[in-house]
Amino acid sequence: MVTITTIPTTQTAIWVDQPGESALITLRDDVPVPTPKENDILVKIECSGLCHSDVYNMMGHHPMDVHIPGHEGVGVIVQMGSRASQVGNLRLGQRVGIKWIHETCGQCPACQRNNTVCPRQHNSGRDRDGTLQQYLTVPASHATPIPDGISSEVAAPLLCEHADDMVAGLTMYSAVGKCRTQNGDWIVIQGGGGGLGHLGVQIAVQKGLKVIAIDGEDKRNFCMGLGASAFFSFADPDLEQKIKSLAEDFGAHAVVCSPGSEAAYNQGIKLLRPGGTLVCVGLPSNGSYTMPLRPIDMVNRGLHVIGSAVGTEAEMQELLKLASTGAIVPQIEVMPLSQYAEAIEAVKTSKASGKIVLKMP
Ligand SMILES: [Zn+2]
Ligand SMILES: [Zn+2]
Repeated sequence: MVTITTIPTTQTAIWVDQPGESALITLRDDVPVPTPKENDILVKIECSGLCHSDVYNMMGHHPMDVHIPGHEGVGVIVQMGSRASQVGNLRLGQRVGIKWIHETCGQCPACQRNNTVCPRQHNSGRDRDGTLQQYLTVPASHATPIPDGISSEVAAPLLCEHADDMVAGLTMYSAVGKCRTQNGDWIVIQGGGGGLGHLGVQIAVQKGLKVIAIDGEDKRNFCMGLGASAFFSFADPDLEQKIKSLAEDFGAHAVVCSPGSEAAYNQGIKLLRPGGTLVCVGLPSNGSYTMPLRPIDMVNRGLHVIGSAVGTEAEMQELLKLASTGAIVPQIEVMPLSQYAEAIEAVKTSKASGKIVLKMP
């Protein structure tokens, strides 16, 4: 085992007891610092995003078998297990990100193709202690190197892969990548001014697509400022016709639906041109909602429909590279860890103006 600095035996962490409506959430400073196993690294966390899904875990809406939440951590490698340096070219002192996917089995048929759907995966803040602590271990193979030129605070929310979250960079990068578009094609980003959508607009612009952002009228200037070619209010009664005329009288090549709204899906499907692709991202709260798509629409219009939640490590690296040039800027609000209670409340009530990133002491 190699070590870069003196490592304390205890550390500070957000500690959740009995997840549920009346969960007891405290800041503890007596949490043992874990010791990396031979393939693990120990990371000293600088900051970690606080996600809607973390708060859902704390409130008992999603399963949480550990005490420490968080899945968007960025920090520095301070200790390496005896074999960790042979994995992924990692070195002491390097900055890495720790994501929702903490570890996958690497053996199953899913892992052979796309390990993001591994049924035996472990997840940060679900069944592995999360990133809202000062020190944590992760398999070296599952840490994401963070390039220079991007601050840890900006990198943290880009690591997120939760569609129910406000700012989830990897989710949107993967969604835009699934659009089957070519340079210069028209893409509609529904909810373009929202936490997911504002990243989607920037990513699509960077990929050479012409972006039509849809959102409430108050988001017009924000979306156009992000590089959208056009903006329409979702309440515009002539929306369908206007988008069709704008896009060669055909409609959009792709639509990414980021709001978790039935109305958005009903509207989005109508904006596609023949052969177009709908990417589902937002999840309507009514879980039994079905989209109005008949087999004849699929046959005669040749539509494609796909969902997107989790992106691959290759997509993660592409996104971080783009962000390190300043081409993609997530909206964030940085707070010290000591203000965790206020931060959780702001996420719970959707009062934060961007993704909250908590800075470790
Ligand atoms: Zn697997
Ligand atoms: Zn997240």
